[in-house]
Amino acid sequence: MAGLSSLTLSEMRAGLDRGSFTSLDLTRACLENAERFKDLNAFITLCPETALSQAAEKDALLAKGDRSPLLGIPLAIKDLILTKGVTTTAGSKILNNFIPPYDATVTTLLKQAGAVIIGKTNLDEFGMGSSNENSAFGPVKNPWDTARVPGGSSGGSAVAVAAGIVPVALGTDTGGSIRQPASFCSIVGIRPTYGRVSRYGVVAYASSLDQVGTFARTVRDAASILTIISGLDRHDSTSVNLPVPNYEACLGQEIEGLRIGIPKEFFIKGTNPEVEQSVRAGIAHLTTLGAVTVEVSLPALEYALACYYIIAPAEASSNLSRYDGVRYGNRASNPEDLDDLYSRSRSEGFGKEVKRRILIGSHVLSTGYYDAYYLHAQKVRSLIAQDFKRVFEQCDIIACPVAPTTAFKIGEKTSDPLEMYLSDIFTIPVNLAGLPGMSLPCGFDGQHLPIGMQLIGKPFDEGTLLKVGHAFESTTDWHKQTAKVFAE
Ligand code: GLN
Repeated sequence: MAGLSSLTLSEMRAGLDRGSFTSLDLTRACLENAERFKDLNAFITLCPETALSQAAEKDALLAKGDRSPLLGIPLAIKDLILTKGVTTTAGSKILNNFIPPYDATVTTLLKQAGAVIIGKTNLDEFGMGSSNENSAFGPVKNPWDTARVPGGSSGGSAVAVAAGIVPVALGTDTGGSIRQPASFCSIVGIRPTYGRVSRYGVVAYASSLDQVGTFARTVRDAASILTIISGLDRHDSTSVNLPVPNYEACLGQEIEGLRIGIPKEFFIKGTNPEVEQSVRAGIAHLTTLGAVTVEVSLPALEYALACYYIIAPAEASSNLSRYDGVRYGNRASNPEDLDDLYSRSRSEGFGKEVKRRILIGSHVLSTGYYDAYYLHAQKVRSLIAQDFKRVFEQCDIIACPVAPTTAFKIGEKTSDPLEMYLSDIFTIPVNLAGLPGMSLPCGFDGQHLPIGMQLIGKPFDEGTLLKVGHAFESTTDWHKQTAKVFAE
């Protein structure tokens, strides 16, 4: 049994407050487990010394009666999110020596709430990928079957939680990077509405799609982290000035009469039948709790994948132009001239998939192609958003699969980018429309690989997602099963 580090956040909170153990005990246990499961490659950087000294400080505060919500709780942060003084690589060689001079707003909020950050988790380079195989620091292994991928791009955060190394971890989701790995690893993952959480200090991939969210082993833990990281930030003009509910207070409410939209476009040929069956069974379970289902249709969804793979690379090609070898990051040695410095610093620093995205992005934005691709994709994006808006007049949430398959084998899709992009078919529409989405454990396939159910909400209605998620979780056992390595 994995011990203290495998407790949930609420169990840790209760134990710390009761004095059953200290933050130092918890932090040591988490670091020991990180070491024990080193082969999973979930972390790029571990910070044992700072974590232990922070834990000791938190214990002193606890003794003084301080009751900050995360006081003394160890957790992990995706290495795409800046942490002052701690290397932040974005999973890329181009930033392998980058030590940020400031914290991302979400990092600050976690620290202010009293968290102990034990390390930075592995990811696909700059968040570009669906399997974590595009990391300059090696692939991450799925704790349910170490020959398989954990999903991506936030694979390290998902595995850190699924393997019982930390109770919660932050991720980012541009096209599914929280929900898909949560589904592959049988944990809870929530991507909030665009604008709900500040993106300040988060390495930009596709700025109109990026959003920070969290992984947890229970809906309650996800709700408590979301309450802490949400809200307006004057450093991010896209963050929204709306009151932040106490999301934990949404849990435990009835779902009687709640209307669940079932979009036929999300139940298509090509989806693994076991995935479809489990998701349908999950929806049927929600109806036994009083929810009702409504058939809905989102016709523009057919174009979502194509639309995303124009917009995301376009924004990426622009965002990534800052890595020039001059101000920070990899700098080529002995450049002949400025052009040589730029091109060699970038060629050496970026991996294959990132280069592919920069090429696609530059192409779709170039004169003559802008109208045909980028502008067109933006129009399609509006149609997709309108479809959701219309459908949300008929229902309160949408339920569907997270991904068409369960976790695939490491190496299985690396030679075919299109195959890999198809993993995102059910997650990217949510990002294009800027909506909140959640992944919940809802079953296993014949090989005992996890299956996730996706719940999609109205803008800024994370509370309903969490309420439904909690109702589901409290009456099912899927989330109680733990990954093979975790149980050893
Ligand atoms: N897999 C998608 C991509 O490669 C989404 C990644 C993400 O959400 N960061 O773009």
